[in-house]
Amino acid sequence: MAQLNKLHTTQFINLSKMINNQQKNKLGCFVKMLPPNYLLSSLEEALSYDANCFMFYTGSPQSSYRVPIDNLKINEFKIALKKAKININDLAIHCPYIMNLANDDVTKRNWAKILLSNEIKRANAIGINLVVLHPGNNRNKSLGCKYIADAINEINENNMNVIICLETMAGKGNEIGANFTEIKTIIDLIADKNKIGVCLDTCHLNDSGIDVSNPDKILAIFDKTINLKYLKLLHINDSLNFIGSKKDRHANIGKGTIGLEILKKWVHNPTLISIPKFLETPYIDNKSVYKEEIKLFLSK
Ligand code: FE
Ligand code: FE
Ligand code: ZN
Repeated sequence: MAQLNKLHTTQFINLSKMINNQQKNKLGCFVKMLPPNYLLSSLEEALSYDANCFMFYTGSPQSSYRVPIDNLKINEFKIALKKAKININDLAIHCPYIMNLANDDVTKRNWAKILLSNEIKRANAIGINLVVLHPGNNRNKSLGCKYIADAINEINENNMNVIICLETMAGKGNEIGANFTEIKTIIDLIADKNKIGVCLDTCHLNDSGIDVSNPDKILAIFDKTINLKYLKLLHINDSLNFIGSKKDRHANIGKGTIGLEILKKWVHNPTLISIPKFLETPYIDNKSVYKEEIKLFLSK
């Protein structure tokens, strides 16, 4: 019964959002940030795909090297963003994935903390509010959740505006965050609730064992377990593997086990219209197909 009421509430919110919604569907993708123009080249790449939001790594995801903030041409970037009518609040930075805040090894944990705090500094300097983080890995999930929350709390002391968004994971190896309960455990331990959020990844949800065919149902469970106010962005990906495979291998839209029809339901879900959604699909013959995939979603 409670579940039913919840669904009705969600539907009502959806309906009122639809009526009030004058915004365009926020749909974009992962882009590169390359020298010499860095942020400007990211924007240019996004515009070439007709994306109205985008996400990027501030350097190689496998390395800790980052160009100095002064080289990023932040002012020029902001002017160009305005011209392109892209809202800086719809942009996200993805943390390097080599870092593990839940590492039992304190030296490695501290190194991960430095990396995260550097990403937060860069995001604050650019004015980007969303930073996506893979929570971390530890065989002991509750200890891992505590390590992650401790690190985020420490970093948030010097964090002005950035919302650290925990990405839901596929459950590969000892990944933390492959279910909503672990994400909720971490959020409960965060002191400043304004600086923590969640990023849903459709491929990861599928691979972790969640049937994504009914977004309203998943969002109702999310709301019940975590609270929808924490949902700040989504990754829209098809998956190469079946539900519960714990693999995390993204497929191009419509070329995987989830399929275009279900992913369309996510992209066009009224609750999610105003939340930035990013494609992170594989390149084909060394070329991205984001332009085609964005078009696929937005064509009737
Ligand atoms: Fe990710
Ligand atoms: Fe993702
Ligand atoms: Zn992934």
